[in-house]
Amino acid sequence: TIYDAVKRAIREAQSAGDSESGHRVRRTERFLAILQERSIQAVYQPIVSLAGGDVFGYEALVRGPKGTDFQSPRELFAFAEDEGLLYSLDRLAREKAIAGCTGLESDQRLFINIPADVIHDPDFTPGQTLGLLEKMGLAPHNVVFEITERCSIEDFSTAKKILQHYRSQGYQIAIDDAGAGYSSLQAIAELQPDYIKVDRSLIHNIHKDKIKEHMLETFVAFAEKMNIRIIAEGIELPDELFKLMQMGIHFGQGYLLARPSSEMAGIDDNLARQMADMRTRRGSMHSF
Ligand code: C2E
Ligand code: MG
Ligand code: MG
Ligand code: MG
Repeated sequence: TIYDAVKRAIREAQSAGDSESGHRVRRTERFLAILQERSIQAVYQPIVSLAGGDVFGYEALVRGPKGTDFQSPRELFAFAEDEGLLYSLDRLAREKAIAGCTGLESDQRLFINIPADVIHDPDFTPGQTLGLLEKMGLAPHNVVFEITERCSIEDFSTAKKILQHYRSQGYQIAIDDAGAGYSSLQAIAELQPDYIKVDRSLIHNIHKDKIKEHMLETFVAFAEKMNIRIIAEGIELPDELFKLMQMGIHFGQGYLLARPSSEMAGIDDNLARQMADMRTRRGSMHSF
């Protein structure tokens, strides 16, 4: 497929002969060089227990080479998808994420993003990933696959079967970006995830938006009944964090708590103190 992509781009450049396709050829060459040199980097963003303040796990995210237009993973993945190179990029990202997670403790989890389409990659098997995971001392219960809710409508029954297979091997599943797209509660219920990651768009200004609060309450009530745990994404403001703590949300992730970093870091001491204060002040915090 790599050769196909190059040939396709070059053919187009030749037939068009214009600067735009020349640009595309150069972009394709840069992208292929990244794949070949494996020059992407894994970074890790803490997912924090809002009840206890400890780091529950880390989401692995990739960064392309600094100073290139492929630094952002959104650019990288969008280009890979357009060029039919999604599987190659995703596999490299997964390998880097697993190889780089030396700081993970035995009771912590590594959250790994799986694009909806990759579910159908014949090479995406527990066997393929298992060797790497074992080498890093990661048991299946240390690994959570994040599936974007997009796959709950596209070829739903296949995705469901494959996810159930992973769960039977002991891996956990999270629905990513919930509330942002098309997922119905029915679709989520059928996928039986262990976690629902509520999208940043629903968390932003949650402390002063009653409608968002009511939507989140619906997720909370549903999750409680279904034995699913909620992770709030994209927490940026202390007011958002405290509101989420009041609402009894299990876990949080966001720039306020910690930015993605090549180190598997904890959260800021000052913020941890504020969170502890908040918990003792309220006394009646939900217990999990
Ligand atoms: P995602 O899985 O929803 O990842 C969360 C994104 O939100 C990350 O952006 C993260 O840096 C960002 N984020 C976290 N906290 C905050 C916050 O408080 N405010 C704001 N504004 N953003 C916050 P990132 O790293 O740019 O990744 C974007 C997307 O690219 C990810 O969305 C994921 O879909 C994809 N992606 C990134 N790395 C990988 C990877 O290694 N493999 C795969 N398959 N996809 C990846
Ligand atoms: Mg994610
Ligand atoms: Mg997400
Ligand atoms: Mg999101």
